[in-house]
Amino acid sequence: MSQIAANLQCVRQRIEAARTRFQRSEEVELLAVSKTKPLALLEQAWQSGQRHFGENYLQEALEKINALAGRDIVWHFIGAIQSNKTTALAQHFDWVHCVDRAKIARRLSKARGADQAKLNICLQVNISNEPSKAGVSLEALPALAAEIACYPNLALRGLMAIPATSDDFDAQQQPFARLKSALARLQQQLPNHPLDTLSMGMSGDLEAAIAQGSTFVRVGTALFGARNPSIREDP
Ligand SMILES: *Cc1c(COP(=O)(O)O)cnc(C)c1O
Repeated sequence: MSQIAANLQCVRQRIEAARTRFQRSEEVELLAVSKTKPLALLEQAWQSGQRHFGENYLQEALEKINALAGRDIVWHFIGAIQSNKTTALAQHFDWVHCVDRAKIARRLSKARGADQAKLNICLQVNISNEPSKAGVSLEALPALAAEIACYPNLALRGLMAIPATSDDFDAQQQPFARLKSALARLQQQLPNHPLDTLSMGMSGDLEAAIAQGSTFVRVGTALFGARNPSIREDP
């Protein structure tokens, strides 16, 4: 068995154990976060049945999408979005998880091809209220969601967050619980939209996220190993 196959099995078992422990009957999808990792590792993951992949850097992602064209992969963009990259994002991805401004959403909707399915969107919430972090505040979320819900080529699917890290299980759950409540409020505010997604939980806190209703856990390190910190953003 390849190292990737073994890691995948281990992460899937963590997800299943958490679903059982927290009585989560709905699906929890594993999003394999492959940023900075070579194509060969994505291929190994695909051969072991992995279908959802998340990338953070557009240029790197486009190379991988191109190289793996024709396979049944669902591509998720989970990185910071620059407005001059929205056309490529809208054309090549199935999901964008980190929308936090109406301007970006408007551009994504405009650039999404009429022949394509709607682009799935999650709004990124700055759930731990960290001044330096991306994401809309919980206070500003309802207005932003109301506006984005009107864009014709987007499907507003739910919320995404990257909370402040903690080693304590109860502390990990608190921001996830806030995101879950925020999604419940949005479902009431926008009853005609398919708001079924909570993109939360990473290698170190996926159990806490599943306890609080995660539907996508975004896992990098536990699948592909540590990343080289010297590899950075697109030029
Ligand atoms: C890199 C990244 C992850 C994966 O984090 P790990 O701790 O390596 O599992 C998840 N979500 C986002 C948005 C990321 O940028």
